[in-house]
Amino acid sequence: MEKENILEVRNIHKRFTSKNVTVRAVTDVSFEVKEGQTIGIVGESGCGKTTLGRCIVRAYQASEGEVWYRTKAGEEVDFLKIDKKKMKEIRKEIQMIFQDPYSSLDPRMTVLDIIKEPLKANYPDMPKAEMDERAKDMAAKVGLNPSYLMRYPHAFSGGQRQRIGIARALVLNPRIIVCDEAVSALDVSIQAQVINLLRDLQKEMNLTYLFISHDLSVVEHISDRVGVMYLGRMVEYADTDRIFGNPRHPYTEALLSAVPVADPNYKVERIPLEGEIPNPANPPSGCYFHTRCRYCTEKCRCEAPVYREVEPGHFVACHRTDELELKGFNFEEAGTADTARKADK
Ligand code: SF4
Repeated sequence: MEKENILEVRNIHKRFTSKNVTVRAVTDVSFEVKEGQTIGIVGESGCGKTTLGRCIVRAYQASEGEVWYRTKAGEEVDFLKIDKKKMKEIRKEIQMIFQDPYSSLDPRMTVLDIIKEPLKANYPDMPKAEMDERAKDMAAKVGLNPSYLMRYPHAFSGGQRQRIGIARALVLNPRIIVCDEAVSALDVSIQAQVINLLRDLQKEMNLTYLFISHDLSVVEHISDRVGVMYLGRMVEYADTDRIFGNPRHPYTEALLSAVPVADPNYKVERIPLEGEIPNPANPPSGCYFHTRCRYCTEKCRCEAPVYREVEPGHFVACHRTDELELKGFNFEEAGTADTARKADK
């Protein structure tokens, strides 16, 4: 493990098998995360991003692969291989915030009890007064009024419920938070408040986020690095500026072209993504994206591209990128993949 890496995800596979049908939900995904960073994972619904997040926190058992984690004590462990006792100890350091702030909170518990729940489960001997104190401190940190603590979740708006969910995830003082579509169910103005809260808490508590979302605008706003997933595979991974300013994978390019731009004078060429994401139980041959890619060639239909580092820290799996590079195409000067496409004609 590199020194500053807090997490290294290596060759994760997740397959679900039912009635002799195997669905490859995640295939050979690897990436590294530095402490204090936010990694955005994007892709259409069904691309495997949520399954990947769940494999990392061990909510699902990965079929293959490793998740190396550097603990608070400086120990390096493969989180997927440790025994139950060790996992209970380390799980406090890796928490999850869920998509739906309505169904993820128990309607029969008060806000105080919801926030205290992880403390009760992990520190059964902690005095009640100390638990109450820690839960109240955390509620204040996420901006919940103390008078709300004895109320029940139904009394709150979506944004307030998500604050309760965040307080519950942070009360154990974790180091890594997996946010699974954490703001997707909220109105845009509330999304901005919750994103700003997450950023403030990140600075204050030195948190590392894995931010899973289908919303590229949100991911651009919060992430240091971004991974783009398609049909269970990572197809591009780079710094946020690279992904948004100089994407090299045609799928990333198509996703970005669909992001609304506030300036009415800025003309963006929309790249339609035709058809549905293919069935992961019966994925296409060669490049999984070839059925929807406008650059598809015979090679793309037969041969899977290699996921490789095309420049320091920028990984892509695409034959076309490889071929443009062989022709000496200068991606830096081109600026964006859109310009690259024009130069290619
Ligand atoms: Fe498109 Fe071919 Fe690249 Fe796949 S390998 S993304 S089909 S150009």
